[in-house]
Amino acid sequence: MASPSPSTKPSAEIIDGRAVAKRVRARVANAVDRLTECGIEPSLAVILIGEDPASAIYVRNKLRACKRVGIRSIERQLPESATTQTLPREIDSLNDDATVDGVLLQLPLPSQLDARELLARVDPLKDVDGYHPKNLGNLVTWGTPLQPCTPAGVIELLTDRGVALRGQNAVVIGRSALLGRPMAHLLLAHDATVTICHRHTSDLRGVVERADLVVSAAGVPGLIKGLWIKPGATVIDVAINRMPDNTLCGDVEFEVARNRASAITPVPGGVGPMTIAMLLRNTVIAARLRRGLAPDSEL
Ligand code: NAD
Repeated sequence: MASPSPSTKPSAEIIDGRAVAKRVRARVANAVDRLTECGIEPSLAVILIGEDPASAIYVRNKLRACKRVGIRSIERQLPESATTQTLPREIDSLNDDATVDGVLLQLPLPSQLDARELLARVDPLKDVDGYHPKNLGNLVTWGTPLQPCTPAGVIELLTDRGVALRGQNAVVIGRSALLGRPMAHLLLAHDATVTICHRHTSDLRGVVERADLVVSAAGVPGLIKGLWIKPGATVIDVAINRMPDNTLCGDVEFEVARNRASAITPVPGGVGPMTIAMLLRNTVIAARLRRGLAPDSEL
């Protein structure tokens, strides 16, 4: 009997990011308990500049998530007019505060501020976003425990599902310094064979068609056609695109892709929930690192 054509294959497994994030948070809560028993209260400081409503919501969600797992949180709000003098002082005071384990600068910053310079000002041991040049440098060389949250969340989704990355042909679409590039290096560290595509890639279709794993982080709705997906591939859609009707979607044509892939993340409900879970995890990692404690093997 002829094997079924890809289009008649059953739908892909939908990877439930909310469920995986919940499991990560449960492990973080237990790790926080173990620290509390030793008299350590992990804490995260978040700096929010200006009145951007989306950033305010992200910060509120981060603070709420901290509370749920027992991490103490501190919010520092600065006006939109914050200067190149005031912000470094704020970062320095949190770096010097012995009760603070993680320092996070909510992005994007107002245009007068230089994100690159300010991210480099955060103590690398308190860099829970994993964006300090030292941690990004270590990521591409010897590895670092403080990895950028969204790419680390993608790896967690894949390992939770038991995807064996070794030897897989992986493509990352998007090469931003904070997302696409660290994503590609993490996949490389897991022994995948990685291709990075970007807006100047001439044969995006050809690269995607050969990939066992597609990770898209371009921010272009419908960029990855469902018919390009190799039958049985795993598809991780990192993008969050807001459509004119206010709904959210990713880069991948979900309805077509789900009939070819073996597993696929939805948007929303896929990678999105992982980002905050990994931030909480990084805060516990930072709390242990700073005190010279061994990594928590159950985290
Ligand atoms: P960015 O704009 O900095 O980078 C986009 C990248 O995509 C660039 O490298 C660009 O070359 C590439 N690109 C753009 N158009 C392309 C095309 N036509 N073909 C091939 N490549 C193309 O964006 P970013 O900050 O890296 O974010 C990317 C997406 O990820 C956005 O949708 C963002 O909202 C989303 N995001 C999601 C999370 C999450 O938690 N899931 C977190 C951060 C960002």
